[in-house]
Amino acid sequence: MHDLDTTLVAVATPPGRGGVGCLRLSGRRAYEIASRLFRPSSDGGGPTPGGRPSFGRFLDRRGESLDHGYLLLFAAGSAYSGESTAELWPHGSPVVLAELVEAAVVAGAIPAGPGEFTYRALRHGRIELTAAEAVRDLVNARTLYQARLAFSQAEGAVAREVRPLCEALEEWIARAEAAVEFVEESETHLPSGALRPAIAEAKQACAALLDGFRMGRVVRRGATLVLAGRPNAGKSSIFNRLLARNRAIVTEVEGTTRDTLEEELEIGGIPVRLVDTAGLRQVQDPLESEGVRRAEQARAEADLLLLVLDGSRPMAEEERTALKRALGEAERARTVVVMNKCDLEPLEGWERPDPAVLKVSALTGEGMSRLREALQERLVGTGPLEDPIITDARHAGALGRALEALEKAAAALQSGLTEEIILEDLRAARKELGEISGEFSGEDLYDRIFSTFCIGK
Ligand code: GDP
Repeated sequence: MHDLDTTLVAVATPPGRGGVGCLRLSGRRAYEIASRLFRPSSDGGGPTPGGRPSFGRFLDRRGESLDHGYLLLFAAGSAYSGESTAELWPHGSPVVLAELVEAAVVAGAIPAGPGEFTYRALRHGRIELTAAEAVRDLVNARTLYQARLAFSQAEGAVAREVRPLCEALEEWIARAEAAVEFVEESETHLPSGALRPAIAEAKQACAALLDGFRMGRVVRRGATLVLAGRPNAGKSSIFNRLLARNRAIVTEVEGTTRDTLEEELEIGGIPVRLVDTAGLRQVQDPLESEGVRRAEQARAEADLLLLVLDGSRPMAEEERTALKRALGEAERARTVVVMNKCDLEPLEGWERPDPAVLKVSALTGEGMSRLREALQERLVGTGPLEDPIITDARHAGALGRALEALEKAAAALQSGLTEEIILEDLRAARKELGEISGEFSGEDLYDRIFSTFCIGK
């Protein structure tokens, strides 16, 4: 992956047929190889780097005409990868694109691995690591909100927050080093009492970023919502309502949702995997008891739980237990409880067991928008939404370790330890922050990150 001297080739458009496909060549010999695969039409001029797209024919390995299309040449300074780049735009035919890749390889190009164009952009200083990771996330986004956040990170949102923190730490490290070296002037370099607020400020900045990660994590990786409730309570009907289309099987026979069903929907910009489980019931049927076991497992792994009670039947013992558990300390924050079938006459003596329980009807749709709001609140909280800056667990991990080192520095200061010891902790914090932008990272980190990219990006 790391030989920057080669010329890469890859199809940049997704597999499958389309109006147009794109083949990208990047590296020293990109123009030369592209020109071997292309003949400009007689009325248009040949392509020039940074110039207009040139129309013509693409040639196969044997030099025979294969398709019409455009060739664009980018100068190294303005290309994504930071290298001479050629883009070929034939029709989006998988066989044409595959043949052009082969022809480029015969001419000396090397097939690119995942993320290799972006890796080169990084190595040529076109983008820094967090922006490269954001490009990957933008490509992988499943909701528009995810794409927007990834775009702001691709524009440097993470670096803008972390860089001043690094600079401030560097300054205090330099001052502390000077104070250690020139003891008699230590007060000039590091006035007593100055380090404490500086460390506190750095800690606060790390903690604030990490705080945002609680939401950022959910936004980036999505959430799992598990529906639970007695058979026939209306889980599948609510599942379908939430999806606004029929995916789950709705039936009047109890216990038909034997296994788990999964679909994805979007709540507040977050992709939510919706899992409908087998009912809450002790059963003899081995197939169904397996379903119940899986339901328990899905429930344990869920970010959000939706307990569906049946308002048309007296509450069963297992419903009472489930309700108690749902409203209890441990699960309340991740649970929404609904009383379904509120379109029917309320049963005598059946009252809403708790004001937190929402009345809904999967049949008429009543209460469904309130339910969506409640789910969104559980996912991202209430109040004005502030976009999280940190969404990547790798960045959060480094911030967490930096915060730990700063806490150690604060504790060392508190107990009157020498500046040398405090310096060690400050340096450790600075190093951890540097991991985010990849400044101290080796090729193995790059390998790990870029292997999660698409080919052609
Ligand atoms: P599940 O076993 O919990 O998944 O329940 P289903 O979604 O399969 O629903 C069981 C039965 O209740 C079906 O006959 C549904 O038509 C009916 N049902 C579901 N929701 C409602 C509702 O809000 N009102 C009424 N009247 N019937 C409902």
